[in-house]
Amino acid sequence: MLWDIIQQWKIEQMQRNVDAAKKDSRDAVDKSQDYAEKVGQLALATQAVWSFLKEKHHLDEKDLMQRMEELDLMDGQKDGRVAPKVVTCPSCSRKMNSRNMQCMFCGCGNPEFNPFAE
Ligand SMILES: [Zn+2]
Repeated sequence: MLWDIIQQWKIEQMQRNVDAAKKDSRDAVDKSQDYAEKVGQLALATQAVWSFLKEKHHLDEKDLMQRMEELDLMDGQKDGRVAPKVVTCPSCSRKMNSRNMQCMFCGCGNPEFNPFAE
């Protein structure tokens, strides 16, 4: 009798775990779809900006690839991304991230602010 109660409790606990895992899985799929949509929007915006640059400044794909490589190497690694870097605040000497527009401690502008760093 006691064994049956314990087994039933374990079965119910497992069912709750399965339900929680299903919910986590659905949430992950939703997030993934959101990210895919945002990447699509960014690709479209990037293409629009690129088309203006080609038209107005007579640039070509070789110029684009060269600039992408230069920007990629700005963080010291050719890895297809722009990593943030640690910057020393010129005013209070505390550390801040290159993604931050200003120092969170003293409000000084970040001379190495890079809004495109990941
Ligand atoms: Zn500061």
